[in-house]
Amino acid sequence: MQFTEDHEMFRKTVRDVVEREINPYVDEWEEAGMFPAHELFPKLGALGLLGLEYAEADGGQGADHSYTVVFGEELGRAHCGGVPMAIAVQTDMATPSLANFGTEDLKRRYLAPALTGEAVAAIAVTEPDAGSDVAGLRTRAVRDGDEWVINGTKLYITNGVQADWLCVLARTSDEGGYRGMSQIIVPTDTPGFSVAKRLKKLGNWSSDTAEMSFVDVRVPVTNTIGEVGRGFQQQMAQFQNERMIANYLAVGANEVAIERTLAYLRERVVFDKPLIENQHIQFELAGLVAEIDMLRHYNYACASAYLRGEDTTRFATIAKLMAPRLSRKVADTCLQFHGGIGYMAETWTSRYFRDSRLWSIGGGADEVMLRTIARLDGIGS
Ligand SMILES: Cc1cc2nc3c(=O)[nH]c(=O)nc-3n(C[C@H](O)[C@H](O)[C@H](O)COP(=O)(O)OP(=O)(O)OC[C@H]3O[C@@H](n4cnc5c(N)ncnc54)[C@H](O)[C@@H]3O)c2cc1C
Repeated sequence: MQFTEDHEMFRKTVRDVVEREINPYVDEWEEAGMFPAHELFPKLGALGLLGLEYAEADGGQGADHSYTVVFGEELGRAHCGGVPMAIAVQTDMATPSLANFGTEDLKRRYLAPALTGEAVAAIAVTEPDAGSDVAGLRTRAVRDGDEWVINGTKLYITNGVQADWLCVLARTSDEGGYRGMSQIIVPTDTPGFSVAKRLKKLGNWSSDTAEMSFVDVRVPVTNTIGEVGRGFQQQMAQFQNERMIANYLAVGANEVAIERTLAYLRERVVFDKPLIENQHIQFELAGLVAEIDMLRHYNYACASAYLRGEDTTRFATIAKLMAPRLSRKVADTCLQFHGGIGYMAETWTSRYFRDSRLWSIGGGADEVMLRTIARLDGIGS
């Protein structure tokens, strides 16, 4: 990766906006169990941060992927996991398929307002009986003239309570398995759609998570993204963007966790000396710094391959396996070295401990990553 002066200026812009528009409000939003997406997103949109890689004609910045790397690393430095995750859903999880395969009309009506921040987007794939195995999907869209009639349930949907539109993966034929699925845009003000439940979680409290119900929800067939029946393949491609941004966020989040822990350990005196003067602690932190550095540069290799137009499945999958495992280790170690105060709800370490636990499950569990790596590398049958 070649970062230029322009990248460094961009890094500063993102860092400033995180420090100005997110960090001062994190405690309040975590307590409320939701951040105000319709207030924050337009501020990010005005700075061009919601559509970095999307075409200028669609309202994006036309930048290359190296800027997404910087964006993810800096966003990850926010003092909670929930808000960066919600922003990443908007920029890299719910919109890539629309940008890549959507018609001009769909992009004008749904992508453009998502890029200004006027509209909040969500990606609705998971269901009660289909998480790791997307083939278990039961939400069905049946064609009636020029409309899809959608029935089903979606679960654990980030931004789901506040979303204006959803990128829904639904069955559009009886073929079963991975065949016969389509991606369909569903505006949340469509009759028959409702948020069945706002879900309470272990962590990432500032991010709203919904269970959704679809009862005879009618949308035009022209709301289909790309080809009817190609939804699964398009979603698999969209998952690559999801995994890459999650891996970039992890670098920033772990980096700031080490910085904050070091600051504490330099001040905290135990057995007549600052804790950081214990070689054991220095070595534990040095080991984590080394692993974060490995992740950062592995991400850069992934991003470089993406920039060259290569398939990044293996890179993104390996990083998506290792990044959450590292985050869990960093969170646990930082909490440990804070002692009792680290366990207190008021201290950032307890929030990081809860928030970082998500990524070994969300966006594809560790075991799903292992399954993919085993398949790609011909391990096992
Ligand atoms: C906070 C949060 C936000 C989310 N946001 C979204 C969202 O915005 N949109 C969306 O569509 N989904 C979202 N999800 C859903 C998430 O992607 C799924 O929870 C995840 O893919 C796992 O699916 P599952 O929960 O059904 O677990 P299951 O598929 O039931 O799996 C349970 C566990 O079994 C293990 N496992 C699975 N497969 C294998 C295997 N082959 N071999 C061995 N072990 C295995 C794993 O440890 C896994 O965690 C979110 C989830 C959470 C918790």
